[in-house]
Amino acid sequence: MQKEPVIAIKNLCHYYGKGSLKRQILFDINLEIYAGEIVIMTGPSGSGKTTLLSLIGGLRSVQQGSLTFLGEELCGVSQQKLVEIRRKIGYIFQAHNLLGFLNARQNVQMAVELNKEISQKDAQDKSKNMLSSVGLAERINYLPDNLSGGQKQRIAIARALVNNPPLVLADEPTSSLDKQSGRDVVELMQQLAKEKGTSILLVTHDNRILDIADRTLQMEDGYLVSNT
Ligand code: ADP
Ligand code: MG
Repeated sequence: MQKEPVIAIKNLCHYYGKGSLKRQILFDINLEIYAGEIVIMTGPSGSGKTTLLSLIGGLRSVQQGSLTFLGEELCGVSQQKLVEIRRKIGYIFQAHNLLGFLNARQNVQMAVELNKEISQKDAQDKSKNMLSSVGLAERINYLPDNLSGGQKQRIAIARALVNNPPLVLADEPTSSLDKQSGRDVVELMQQLAKEKGTSILLVTHDNRILDIADRTLQMEDGYLVSNT
């Protein structure tokens, strides 16, 4: 028996622009992602991958169709509600998006402190432990500029996973990394996700990492063409 999906998408369509400039970008997307699944999405540039990811992540309002996150409908909800949903999702982007004036620990801790109940001390410990899990115990006081691309992306992973979210969304997380660092980074995500039962949806052009997926999806011109 399958449990309730973390993400369930039915007949999702999306449009950019208004009036005569209105253009349909996503066409009738149907997709379910279950707890602990690692799903990789590939497809040419411009096919709508980032748009779909941003809708799933509550970073953009759902216009048409149904998209539920842990059973909760995102179509038609308030911005306030979307903000709450975002707190339950970890994000990893192509560029690591770390703050340059904060060290590794502070960058991770920022995410922990979104949870107002936690004490400063606990937030610090949690951030340090998470950085140790991604192999950066010796680098917690380093600024991003003094770390390699792979190390920065590992901080981004620590930040995405530190609150133990049910879902992590990663948009081309290896594209700025060399082959080995890219491989290391996704294997680390895979290992941490499997330990904690986190679902991961990862967009990539990098066919060297497809094997970490439980399932791969392909986007083409706004359609999900294979969903196996
Ligand atoms: P991918 O991530 O697969 O490269 P995107 O979702 O970024 O694709 O883009 C899909 C299409 O939507 C492209 O044609 C792109 O130019 C267009 N697009 C993306 N973002 C916007 C936006 N904010 N406003 C208008 N068009 C956009
Ligand atoms: Mg994209």
